[in-house]
Amino acid sequence: MAWRSQSETNEGLISQLQEYGIIKNEMVANVMKQTDRKLYCRVAYPYVDRPYSIGYSATISAPHMHAFALENLFDFITPESKILDVGSGSGFLTACFARLLKAQAEKAGKDEFSGYVVGIEHHPKLVEFSIGNLNSDDPKFLDDGKVKIIQGDGRLGCEEHGPYDAIHVGAAAVEVPDQLLKQLKKNGRMVIPVGPQGDTQQMEQFDKTETGEIKKKTLMSVVYVPLTDLDA
Ligand code: SAH
Repeated sequence: MAWRSQSETNEGLISQLQEYGIIKNEMVANVMKQTDRKLYCRVAYPYVDRPYSIGYSATISAPHMHAFALENLFDFITPESKILDVGSGSGFLTACFARLLKAQAEKAGKDEFSGYVVGIEHHPKLVEFSIGNLNSDDPKFLDDGKVKIIQGDGRLGCEEHGPYDAIHVGAAAVEVPDQLLKQLKKNGRMVIPVGPQGDTQQMEQFDKTETGEIKKKTLMSVVYVPLTDLDA
């Protein structure tokens, strides 16, 4: 991209992404406007459309990539959906998923809804960081159980809270983890960057049909930090 969106405010940044046609879905824009990026990356200029280091070889993804993930999975998110966010890092996208569940519930006129989002992150310091960030944003996320942050190897998913209607993987896999495909519900979707470490990867979309068949579609080239072993 030859230019980069930036603003003095979170709302301004998201409005720009809408103006440039990068965010098309109004509900996605709204949940991103409600989720202040400065609470998830403590930098001088958080409202720039770029990734930032959050330490421990991790980055908070660029806002346009968060928007892409939310728009791509949008149709799989109803008030009853179970969502898995692998490599949840800062917790920003996890919070957006939770807000999307709530927005869908409000739209459907439901006060109570059964959906939730599970963020799985392997680095204990980032687990701690994301819990702090989520609580500074809205303590109800974790208190109400609509967001669960689990420490563990995301390649194994989280069977306990699955199966999932939507799975987002925020770090690149050399090979698609079997467990994640297994924990994807019928009529569910997973998006995952697949490819070699430190090089360009392909964002792959996996749809599981009613009969359990997997349909793969390559969406675009991306560069993500790798899914790794914790001590690698
Ligand atoms: N969506 C997050 C992306 C964070 S970067 C955000 O925007 O904040 C990718 C994350 O994946 C890092 O936090 C990294 O620690 C985590 N990660 C890498 N390998 C992992 C693994 N095997 N299991 C769980 N998390 C992993």
